[in-house]
Amino acid sequence: MAVYVVGHKSPDTDSVCAAIALADLKSKLGVECKPAVQGELSPESKFVLDKFGCDAPELLKDATDKQIMLVDHSDLSQSLDNLNKGELMAIVDHHKVGDVTTPNPIEVWTWPVGCTCTVLKSMYDFYGVEIPKNIAGIMTCAILSDTVIFKSATCTDADKKAAETLAQKAGLDDLQELGIEMFKVKSAIEGTPVRELVMRDFKDFDMSGNKVGIGQLEVVDLSLLDGVKNDLAQDISSLKGEGNYHSVFLLLTDIMKEGSEMLLVSDDPSKVEKAFGVAPSGDKAWLDGVMSRKKQVVPNFEKAFAA
Ligand code: MG
Ligand code: MG
Ligand code: MG
Repeated sequence: MAVYVVGHKSPDTDSVCAAIALADLKSKLGVECKPAVQGELSPESKFVLDKFGCDAPELLKDATDKQIMLVDHSDLSQSLDNLNKGELMAIVDHHKVGDVTTPNPIEVWTWPVGCTCTVLKSMYDFYGVEIPKNIAGIMTCAILSDTVIFKSATCTDADKKAAETLAQKAGLDDLQELGIEMFKVKSAIEGTPVRELVMRDFKDFDMSGNKVGIGQLEVVDLSLLDGVKNDLAQDISSLKGEGNYHSVFLLLTDIMKEGSEMLLVSDDPSKVEKAFGVAPSGDKAWLDGVMSRKKQVVPNFEKAFAA
């Protein structure tokens, strides 16, 4: 029986590409693995897989009786249902260590870098396995996506170096241009239902016992969202009630201006000022220089909720 390799809920390009890469590497090392995703692919991920001729991973939502490897997360709230009824074999990640536990020792590779695929590049090197050209291509795209074309506060020299080497292998020469092409695909929202936009890159967090949801839309120009901003604000307000959230935050990130407008609905909006030193005006706040949920938004809110 194959081991399933899966990223977080609301899969992003790193979750999808890291699952494909780790499944490839492990299969070549003699452990038969299949990549999986917990939900529908985003337009950006579809674009990336199409560009390099990679198949979409199969859909998997429940871990019961399955052997599992996790990529790009180790939080139960972002993982498969019934993870404790399956067998966890490995974690490859670049986030803070989550709340997953295991009865047995497992393989864990988690580094403070900008992208899971950066860790995977080093794993291929460690095991002396050649990276196929198409997988090198999707890994490059995952790094461009997660580091926002190397601009995010999460980006490290290791990410830049991995992307350079992978791009060479994949025969890609202009990473800026490829990155912008990807973010244009990501920015296209026409015809997409509002709830789908909210959920496209959405994560649940437990902050000092409070359920907090944080979503993010990254666009090449914030004005692209002008027509849907009111609907987005209304939708996160409905979502808050439906999901029993203390707070729902939606970051609208302008990757060229390098900052985010945050839409918010909260039982205690003062958490925003505590976290960022910016008083929200109504249900919005502009956070200059904030592009990374992981490095700039989650830690600040965690402190504000713990205070
Ligand atoms: Mg991710
Ligand atoms: Mg990632
Ligand atoms: Mg991301």
